[in-house]
Amino acid sequence: MKAYEKLYIDGAWVSGSGGKSIDVINAATEEVMGRIPEGTVADAQAAIAAARAAFDGWAAVPAARRGEYLAAIQAGIKARADEFARTITGEVGVPYKLAQRVMVGNPVNTFGMYAALAGSFEFEKTVGNSLIVREPVGVVGAITPWNFPLHQIALKVAAALAAGCTVVLKPSEVAPLNAFMLAEIIHEVGLPKGVFNLVSGYGPVVGEALAASPEVDMISFTGSTRAGKRVSELAAQTVKRVALELGGKSAAIILDDADLATAVKATVSYCYLNSGQTCAATTRMLVPASRYEEAAKIATEVAAGFTVGDPMGDARLGPLISAVQRERVRAYINKGIEEGAQLLTGGAEPPEGQPRGYFVKPTVFGKVTPAMTIAREEIFGPVLSILTYRDEADAVRIANDSVYGLAGTIWSKDEERAKAVARRVRAGQIDINGGPFNPMAPFGGYKQSGNGRESGVYGLEEFLEYKSLQLRPAKAA
Ligand code: NDP
Repeated sequence: MKAYEKLYIDGAWVSGSGGKSIDVINAATEEVMGRIPEGTVADAQAAIAAARAAFDGWAAVPAARRGEYLAAIQAGIKARADEFARTITGEVGVPYKLAQRVMVGNPVNTFGMYAALAGSFEFEKTVGNSLIVREPVGVVGAITPWNFPLHQIALKVAAALAAGCTVVLKPSEVAPLNAFMLAEIIHEVGLPKGVFNLVSGYGPVVGEALAASPEVDMISFTGSTRAGKRVSELAAQTVKRVALELGGKSAAIILDDADLATAVKATVSYCYLNSGQTCAATTRMLVPASRYEEAAKIATEVAAGFTVGDPMGDARLGPLISAVQRERVRAYINKGIEEGAQLLTGGAEPPEGQPRGYFVKPTVFGKVTPAMTIAREEIFGPVLSILTYRDEADAVRIANDSVYGLAGTIWSKDEERAKAVARRVRAGQIDINGGPFNPMAPFGGYKQSGNGRESGVYGLEEFLEYKSLQLRPAKAA
């Protein structure tokens, strides 16, 4: 049981003003595994004031020195890597091995990457008679979700601190314990007070206080498109910068010359990553109509390999994050059946042998049409939809027939052909033939998947302003 009684504001652990707390539930056992304070608007305002007061000092710290702090935070996370992995497995339900590799491995890399970038980034450049100076945008409100909790926090916090911004973090209250551990590390590292602040609590209270505050210069938000729109509305009143990383309904386009078995296997795996609670998950698998039966058979077999069970054991598919999420996903499965999709495997009933935990069966739907709800809305569960297309142009049209545009994959024996198709898909990142995730590449969406980019140098630049100093050219002697 990890019980945190205090918020982290202005370099100190302080009691929240509301006196209430929120229980954190283990997704596999449904037992209370922790507790955090329920922050209030007043707590958010105290943290914003601390971040404001710390800003000028932190912005003036040489970037390379800021990088040293980030490297120390990275070392702190590494030293507690196993504790982080176990905590996140409990909160989120993700299999422990995946938690080690992705949920903790990525944040370690992210802090390291921004430690290095702080030292190497060119904050000044001469263009004609102007000196172009990159300055931190100011106080950043970071609002993060529960699906890859520490990863999403790291992408915002490490980049913002490297840029010279100060931060108020509001993590998801569903998976917040890792954020408190990070705050402990930041405290030990001795970051100047007020540079990083942590206020837990509910989105409509603490999150909205950050979005509305005239003292916050930027909101960096990851979560649902619904909440992202609300944050943007509030932020517009003070014309603050808003970066949004929202939902997705990404398509895997398997071209007719692709190695079908490899492509289908990878697509199912990417769809089921973190029990399908991944914004970039390939939830729509597009196959040539002539190869539908073959693809459906392979997908069904691959899905069967996703054993459901204890995420601390050998199971490949852990529970969903919460009862709310489980019910939402079951409702989508029922909707798919109602609307006439063919249920190839899985279904809305609880998986056998799991009396507790928010488990959902790995599910595959065939004969899905683009108009069906399960082909249009983000489900955020282990549910794959197989759609068929006539030709390449039809595949691209179906892939783009979405309000989202976060990610996608293309499979073909001919890489040039795959690249040409990828250029026609309106999405922020497309993996070709299983090309691996690259943290130096920008990550973010087109259309209603968001605004802005995280990761790499692009993620650092999100937190920077431009200032042009026009210099009088030296007179010729
Ligand atoms: P939310 O968007 O509600 O949660 C994400 C973060 O936003 C949380 O910290 C949340 O706080 C906060 N938040 C919620 N409402 C507001 C608000 N009005 N103002 C400011 N901040 C707010 O996601 P849900 O947990 O409701 O998940 C619902 C669906 O969203 C999922 O099924 C999935 O489709 C999608 N989603 C997508 C994610 C992605 O990576 N793109 C991540 C998470 C969800 P709190 O948790 O305290 O309410």
